[in-house]
Amino acid sequence: MLALDIQHVRMNQHADDKAQALQCLVDILVEDQLVSAEYLDGLTTREQQSPTYLGQGIAIPHGTPQSRQYIQQTGIRLAHFPNGVLWDGENTIYLAVVIAAKSDEHLQVLQLLTKALNKDISQQIQAANTPEQLVELLQAQPATLALHEQLIATQVAAQDIEDFFWQATQRLKQHHYVECGFLSALNPKHLIQLNEEIWSISTHQQVLSPAIAIVQSASPIQYQDKNLQTLVCIASNDQMDLSQLNRLLDIFFNPEQSSQINTEKDAHQLAQLIGADIIPDWPSQTVQLANAHGLHARPATQLVNLTKKFQGEIHVQVDGGAFVSAKSLTKLLSLGCQRGQHLTFIAEPDSDAVQGLSQIIAAVQHGLGEEIQPIDTQQNTTNTQPEILTFESDADTDAKTHGIAASTGLAYGPAYVIKPRQYDYPRLASNIKDESLKLDIALHTVKNNIYQLIAKTDVNDIKQIFTAHLEMLDDPELIHNVQKGLKQGLSAAAAWHDYIESAAQAQEALQDRLLAERAADLRDIGERILAHLCGVEEQVAPDSPYILIMHDVGPSDVARLNKERVAGILTAVGGASAHSAIVARALGIPAIVGAGSRVLDIQNNETVLINGDSGEFIIQPDAALIEQAILERERQHALRLEAEKHCMAPAITFDQHQIEIAANIGNIHATEQAVNDGAEAIGLLRTELVFMAHQNAPSEEIQQADYRTVLDTLAGRPLVVRTLDVGGDKPLPYLPLPSEENPFLGLRGIRLTLRKPELLQQQLIALLKAADDRPLRIMFPMIGRVEEWRAAKAILDEVRQRYPCKNLQVGIMIEVPSAALLAPILAQEVDFFSIGTNDLTQYTLAIDRGHPLLSAEADGLHPSILLLIDQTVRAAHQYGKWVGICGELAADPKAVPILMGLGVDELSMSSTSIPLVKAQIRQLNFTDCQTLAHQALQCDSATSVRALGA
Ligand code: PEP
Ligand code: MG
Repeated sequence: MLALDIQHVRMNQHADDKAQALQCLVDILVEDQLVSAEYLDGLTTREQQSPTYLGQGIAIPHGTPQSRQYIQQTGIRLAHFPNGVLWDGENTIYLAVVIAAKSDEHLQVLQLLTKALNKDISQQIQAANTPEQLVELLQAQPATLALHEQLIATQVAAQDIEDFFWQATQRLKQHHYVECGFLSALNPKHLIQLNEEIWSISTHQQVLSPAIAIVQSASPIQYQDKNLQTLVCIASNDQMDLSQLNRLLDIFFNPEQSSQINTEKDAHQLAQLIGADIIPDWPSQTVQLANAHGLHARPATQLVNLTKKFQGEIHVQVDGGAFVSAKSLTKLLSLGCQRGQHLTFIAEPDSDAVQGLSQIIAAVQHGLGEEIQPIDTQQNTTNTQPEILTFESDADTDAKTHGIAASTGLAYGPAYVIKPRQYDYPRLASNIKDESLKLDIALHTVKNNIYQLIAKTDVNDIKQIFTAHLEMLDDPELIHNVQKGLKQGLSAAAAWHDYIESAAQAQEALQDRLLAERAADLRDIGERILAHLCGVEEQVAPDSPYILIMHDVGPSDVARLNKERVAGILTAVGGASAHSAIVARALGIPAIVGAGSRVLDIQNNETVLINGDSGEFIIQPDAALIEQAILERERQHALRLEAEKHCMAPAITFDQHQIEIAANIGNIHATEQAVNDGAEAIGLLRTELVFMAHQNAPSEEIQQADYRTVLDTLAGRPLVVRTLDVGGDKPLPYLPLPSEENPFLGLRGIRLTLRKPELLQQQLIALLKAADDRPLRIMFPMIGRVEEWRAAKAILDEVRQRYPCKNLQVGIMIEVPSAALLAPILAQEVDFFSIGTNDLTQYTLAIDRGHPLLSAEADGLHPSILLLIDQTVRAAHQYGKWVGICGELAADPKAVPILMGLGVDELSMSSTSIPLVKAQIRQLNFTDCQTLAHQALQCDSATSVRALGA
């Protein structure tokens, strides 16, 4: 590790200007055999890119990554310039800490130096007479004792002293203040009673940096015949700021304050009481740093320049450590953030900084002005990497023409295969004029092409899209920013791509559908220009309706899909409840998913025919097949039109069995469409998606207004609302969660909200206030244990006492197998069950619903799932309760009669499916459905269930 050493200090150096100073520094390094003379070029180039002035009269010159080849040995040298050297046209330095580092060792030096920068020491540095004085000045800063809100735990269920130790250690470890072994170093013999019920313990073993954790139990425990309720756990070390510790201990020794401390139940309030740092509950976003050499001076400077553009406060932490201002270069450097670590930015609420977060994240993702290699999270960290096995989807092995039927309907058209394209371009360029000219030519050519497209098309929508693209290309803000990149020495392609990508990502992160569409447009024009700059032939989508072929269609691709031009979708990966399938169904586009990666080998413009009902597709079908498909499509179209005509009529079988048909929505404004499609209720309002439409956590008032909108539009129809189901694959930007190895098996749904009861309470209050005695049904997601249901119900009962609501039913989602198995018990307590077959399938078959290869095998018609549904329905009906299905299975034509036969009372689905499902049910006989369901329960596989009645 590099350290500041008095042997490495050269006093009384003199230089007339910076160039001379750099020469002097290289001479010192050469003399000490750390570098060869060529290293001077590296130092000079680096200073030209951005000066290395750090603050307090100190500079930290170091070479560019390219100049590392001239380093013979890693080391640092300190040169004292008592007469000063003008460093960056503005600041004079008296000390240069010159670094020759083969990798990232210098980050530690920076961390050390930045601690010195917290004090006003430039005059003392100039006046220093000895190396000892200098090094002492740089090192004399005692390490701050960390104590912040996240190191405080209250209301802990501690039984004995070991519980206290464990809780304190967990917090200190989580924030990287201590390492393994700290817990066992805590010896109860060293406990000291500070005051009534407040005790302290301290150790310096396994301490990385000094910090204090405070753990307070819900009720005192007995320890040595005395009470212990609050433990102050001190992780100390030799450099710790003792005066800070003493100030804190004074508070605990003070009898008045200590009794207040013991009665305080809230960590936030307790933190305020003892003067701990408060971690504001601000909107946050996290990003992984990919810069090869970590957050060193140059990217940090870029970050500061960006954050300073915003008026609001922005703070940042590394991997759960303490927050520092993201507008201060020294503070950023003091983080010592290395490649692979995570930066979490938080922004002052209600300020421009909140909007700025996405821009900041995008900038970090793009390397803050440096070329970066993306981090491969799968990468093995050892040098001898075992070969990673690759598998193809099963769909590949059996046939070239089979996938999973994901969205009903027939479609054919020219293939439009989207493969990620590679653009090779130099990152830096020496001649701004040349680059500027290249950019002008590209802009001119692409604009001309767009004018031609507008002239050629008769379709108004297409005209509008391209007119908007022209406007974007003329946007002065865009041109200004790209020009700025050119001035910083970037090539035209790099400057263009950097700006477009960061602007698009910033836009996309806003979660607003309209803005997301604009991001897709930005990328569209971005790619056209980039292709021109790199001489890559543009990938132009066919004008006529085409079959879109991709690896997978993610939710963010929705914005790119032009429903008018995408006749069908064919993807290499995915299953029936994968996002690609849900997206396709929502748009009413026929789709086959999970067809294997060979579909990406289909040539652009080859005709492809897909059957979204059978999962079959044909490449280059002959004329007869196309003719047949056209007829079939017309027949289906006619059926759909007919079904739509009767979509308002109830779903009743020939033998007069009626089932309620409801809609799943995640956007309050989709209610109207659902009602128009024939929904008799909203069977699932995914409130986490409603939350996601807001930039910040919606207040109780905002939530109330949202829920009121849905209920108003429903005009008396029932609303089934699911409380927040955050976690798993659905993070909320303003509710940061600790990263987990298995998020689907972790803090998700009710498990999360029971740990944040104030969040659940607030949502329940908003719902009850919005209900106005209209039919409201509230259900809790991810219930797996009876205790969870009872705890959630208790919270609701408490809220209901304050906000009475007449027309309320309370139920649970059945999506964890344990809940289905316990249905006979749960049915006695709930008002209803709603079966989430997407998760029930995932958890029963132990297949990640989004797994690129396996999700195709996660078929909800597997007999094991049907058995669980059967058991749930029987239990519910025994106690007079109703059961709905709200997973994707509810709209699967093969599943509808089976689910009816199993006796479910409600089917809830994407509203586009409602007319056809209602029409299908009107053709069924309930007694036949019961026979079919009975047969299905006897089957041994999903395939045999699907084959029934075929
Ligand atoms: C389900 O799991 O079936 C369900 C409806 O919930 P979600 O898809 O939102 O997890
Ligand atoms: Mg679910």
